[in-house]
Formats: sequence, structure tokens, C-alpha cells
Amino acid sequence: MSDIWIMRIGHRPQRDKRVTTHVALSSRALGAKGIFVDTEDPVLEENIRSVVGRFGGDYTIETGVPWKRKIAEFPGKVVHLTMYGQRVDEAIPKIPRDEDILIVVGAEKVPPEVYQRADFNVSVGNQPHSEIAALAIFLDRFTGGSELYSDRHGRMTVVPNERGKTVVDASR
Ligand code: SAM
Repeated sequence: MSDIWIMRIGHRPQRDKRVTTHVALSSRALGAKGIFVDTEDPVLEENIRSVVGRFGGDYTIETGVPWKRKIAEFPGKVVHLTMYGQRVDEAIPKIPRDEDILIVVGAEKVPPEVYQRADFNVSVGNQPHSEIAALAIFLDRFTGGSELYSDRHGRMTVVPNERGKTVVDASR
């Protein structure tokens, strides 16, 4: 499968720190290659890199990335998640698998230019909810669930356990 990238727009470091952190962590867990965040936020970068350092994989984060230029120049398809878009189940079969995709998620009101530039405006239900929920459902459906338990070869590995916690720390 080609690469999946996230573009987070409207990030306000104080107000959105938890939500944007969870957008990044959820997308990493569900198979994305990395995230671009429009507002510079070194703390956010450090937090995400710390998780990658412990749990593995090659997920990347870049902040202070101007979203207009990123969506204009992205060499693949731009998928904008919005409650106003076409139904996710109808959109997914139309999205090419041989090109990278850039998934745009907002924080507040998303400017009209995003709707116009997007190759696909996709809704995950037509009710207002959350960028984390929308992204997770979209990614799980787009990847057919294949990424959930893929091995990231990290220092820390969680072994599924019906009761309690089993974590293998390769450094010990
Ligand atoms: N009210 C804002 C607007 O009109 O653009 C959206 C705010 S919402 C809290 C933040 C983001 O969550 C949106 O930009 C969108 O990416 C995502 N989102 C929320 N509900 C969604 C839905 N039903 N389907 C797809 N994405 C959704």
C-alpha cells in the first residue's frame, strides 16, 4: 500500500495539545507514515518522537508546516475529512491505492479552499463529532484493519493479555 500522511490544520498549541497528540498517536497506530501540523509546536514534536522512540516504527512529525502549500504541492490525493462530505463507504473504493494520500483534519472551522482543493471530501457519518474518531474510523476502513496489530519492532512491545499487562522491554 502507498503512504498515508496527515495534515492537521488550525492547531492551537495550548488549547489543542491533547487532541492533536491523539490525532498523531491514533494515526500512527492505524498505519499512517507521519503528520504535518500547521502551527509550530516543539513540545508536541518531542512527545510524539518519544512514543516512536519507545514503541518503534518510523512515524514522523513536522510542525510549522504551511497547510496551503502542503495541500497544493502534495504529490498524491488529498482526502479531507468533513461531516459535509460524501459517505465514507462510497468514497473509499474511489480513492486510488497506487498513490500516496494526505488526510486533512481540522480543529475549528475549515477554510473553503480545503474543500475545493481536496480530491475527496469524505464524511464519517453526517453528525459533528471529532477529528480523532473520524480519522480512526477512516483509517481502519481504508486499511481494512491490517495495521492494528502490525509489529513496529520497538524497544517496548505489548503482548496481548486477557487480564493484566504484559510489556517486553528489549533494553532489559
Ligand atoms: N465545525 C468545524 C467545521 O465546520 O469545519 C469542524 C470542527 S470538528 C471538531 C474538527 C474536525 O473533525 C473537522 O475538521 C473534521 O476533520 C473532523 N470531523 C468531525 N466530524 C466529522 C464527521 N462526521 N466526518 C468526518 N470528519 C469529521
